[in-house]
Amino acid sequence: MEKIVQDSSGIVGLFNVAQAAQSMYYALHAMQHRGQDGCGLAVSDGNILSIQKGLGLLAENLTSDVLSAMEGSLGVGQVRMATKGDAQLENVQPIMVRAHQGHFSIVTNGMITNALTLRNELEKQGLIFQGTSDAELIAHLIQLAPGNFNEKIDGVCKQLKGSYAFLIATKDCLFAARDPHGIRPLFLAKCQNGYALSSETCSFGILGAQLIREINPGEIIRIDDAGLQEIATMNAASHVCSMEYVYFSRVDSVIEQNNVHAIRKACGKALAKQETVHADIVVGVPDSAISAATSFAHELKIPYETGLIKNRYIGSTFIRPTQQQRMQGLRVRLNAISSVVKGKKVFLVDDCIVKGSTAKRIAQLLKEAGATEVHLRIASPMMKYPCLYGNDHRCQGELVAYHYTCEEMEELFHVDSLRFLDIEEYKQCVPQNSCMACFDGVYPEDLADFKDCVKGEK
Ligand code: SF4
Ligand code: MG
Repeated sequence: MEKIVQDSSGIVGLFNVAQAAQSMYYALHAMQHRGQDGCGLAVSDGNILSIQKGLGLLAENLTSDVLSAMEGSLGVGQVRMATKGDAQLENVQPIMVRAHQGHFSIVTNGMITNALTLRNELEKQGLIFQGTSDAELIAHLIQLAPGNFNEKIDGVCKQLKGSYAFLIATKDCLFAARDPHGIRPLFLAKCQNGYALSSETCSFGILGAQLIREINPGEIIRIDDAGLQEIATMNAASHVCSMEYVYFSRVDSVIEQNNVHAIRKACGKALAKQETVHADIVVGVPDSAISAATSFAHELKIPYETGLIKNRYIGSTFIRPTQQQRMQGLRVRLNAISSVVKGKKVFLVDDCIVKGSTAKRIAQLLKEAGATEVHLRIASPMMKYPCLYGNDHRCQGELVAYHYTCEEMEELFHVDSLRFLDIEEYKQCVPQNSCMACFDGVYPEDLADFKDCVKGEK
């Protein structure tokens, strides 16, 4: 499905892993769903950090020739989903700093909520920014911070608010840090004779790495030839983004010991409990809604059918459709199977609704393919509040559920009925400590800087 909500990225780091560039490529490939707008790697051969990055998919930028030229067993990499207006190459990571005290390379995931304030202060001091990424801001802050590298990173983390997970490679060390609320996930695994770090556990399978644990909220670690050292620890409560379970993560990933597929199934089952409509088949929107859709069908004892096919082989060179071409754009990505849906009353199950335009177009696809009725079911609650932590619905006014009631959305999407998972049911399905702010408006931190984005109830 066309990605409307956007997580900023997937990041990976390796220490003491043979052919780190090739290994990171595969680890990032497992997370390509987290970002298709840019990608990059930085690898150290013990002396020099080399970097390669570009706009678009991994396969379009990092060919086997490029990877074989990047020798070394230590590095960091990222796949990036651009948010509005920041799709330029300057924001693609790693961000490389070549300073006389030492070179380093940084990749980040999340969103620093006080970035603008910090950036303004630095600009007043005369610093020049190439792009708008949090990675560049953190790189500048590290350069300016006093102390050794451990103290610099610790000092910078104390200045940051919001959500972040970042990795830094120097010529001989790998650092990892996670925000004190633990909103963006970051995992540590044993890999060969070294370590792997990743935004998702699904990367570890391809590396043959064994999960050790999550990087804890507020924790900073350093890995070098002396081993793994905790630079900062904090007994902070985790508020991992619940949309990781609903939408962002791959179904085989595990977060806080919870399998993503199992949580999506629980959401589908809970959605079915409240069902009052009778339909012939259930169709899920690929890929992220399939787990919920199959358990919804199972619970209602209605056949689950593959009524929508996704084209997975679209490069970033595929022209992003203009407003007028959006339906055509969707058709390139999704096709309805007429022989499956023709003459049928269809439950169409999707994972979430943000702006609503895609839901409307998918319902239209099914109707054009001959479905007599389309009953849209959403395996998460109405998204009424903006996300300030790295997903591209930063303003409440962009959310269709902020403007319209469920009944009004039924008309807007031209569906025969529409129902969302009840917020209380949702809270039973995802871990209780998770951030659910875009559904319930309860944010893990003070939002003084965001009054304009979060308008309140409507
Ligand atoms: Fe995730 Fe929503 Fe919280 Fe953003 S507001 S971190 S999308 S749960
Ligand atoms: Mg979806």
